[in-house]
Amino acid sequence: MAAHRQDRPWSGQTMRPQVEMLPDYVSDCYLCPGNARVSGARNPEYPQTFVFDNDLPCVGPEAPAEPRPPVGIYRNLPARGVARVVCYSPRHNLTLAELDRSEIETLLHVWQDQYVELGGRPEIAHVLIFENKGEIVGVSNPHPHCQIYATNFVFKTIETEARASQRHLVETGRVLFQDVLAAERQDGRRIIYENELAIAFIPYFARYAYEVFVAPKATHPSLAALSENEVRELAAVLKCVLVKFDNLWRMPFPYVMPLHQAPTDGRDYAGFHFHIELHPPLRKPNLLKYLAGPEIGGGNFLSDTTPDEKAEELHNLPDVHYKQTRP
Ligand SMILES: [Zn+2]
Ligand SMILES: [Zn+2]
Repeated sequence: MAAHRQDRPWSGQTMRPQVEMLPDYVSDCYLCPGNARVSGARNPEYPQTFVFDNDLPCVGPEAPAEPRPPVGIYRNLPARGVARVVCYSPRHNLTLAELDRSEIETLLHVWQDQYVELGGRPEIAHVLIFENKGEIVGVSNPHPHCQIYATNFVFKTIETEARASQRHLVETGRVLFQDVLAAERQDGRRIIYENELAIAFIPYFARYAYEVFVAPKATHPSLAALSENEVRELAAVLKCVLVKFDNLWRMPFPYVMPLHQAPTDGRDYAGFHFHIELHPPLRKPNLLKYLAGPEIGGGNFLSDTTPDEKAEELHNLPDVHYKQTRP
């Protein structure tokens, strides 16, 4: 942490927030109901959520069957799987933060079904569900949606989390994430919001200024294992965090949001605790956290803020979306 540097002079590029008013429906949006996609397929007039196979998948049946073996020490294996898109709403101009709690709950059920269906396939080792939000993280279409990569390999961060969790369980008999939750509760300063069954906090080890973890309080390897009540309370906590994000600078708040769920390769993941991570790239309204020498070059994150003060900032914000209040 180098929080004393937060206000250092800056004369480089600043980001302009997206404040333009968008319409409900856009005729050339490939995600809006009734529109044709690049594959020629036409979207149905879906009333709420809509799932389809990505027309330009990063992993898909058309990929080369066997890659050419590399020279020397290098190894490769074909990456196979299924890539899907999940539309959150038929409305082009909504964001996840603006959906009702019950609509977010419905979306969580869709994610549950996708994890069970895709993770149940013998060739699938892991299901990565994630949303990229905002032009700043490379999203050109604002229609609210996320992506699913169900692959024959486990993504690196999940593999590391799974291995660390399992080692902690063997060495201590405890779930690592429960120890994290206990420390956060004991300290208390970084908890943003909680109800009986779910919690949101900026972890002590956060890399980004507003990096928030949202999780059920009980340990489950995946979202699919949550009870109805846990899903409802998780939806409420997620909604609260997203609304606070938007209220922070009264603009749609960009982020990368992965669901961290246990792999589905059939191994033992009793120590894995499902959680949602939110990685917002902005540290000030118009200022990106640049990854440079320390991060890319050295492999350590240099944070210009402390998680304690950022969590307090979020904690103190209203939990009603600014678009739903009078200016
Ligand atoms: Zn659209
Ligand atoms: Zn994680």
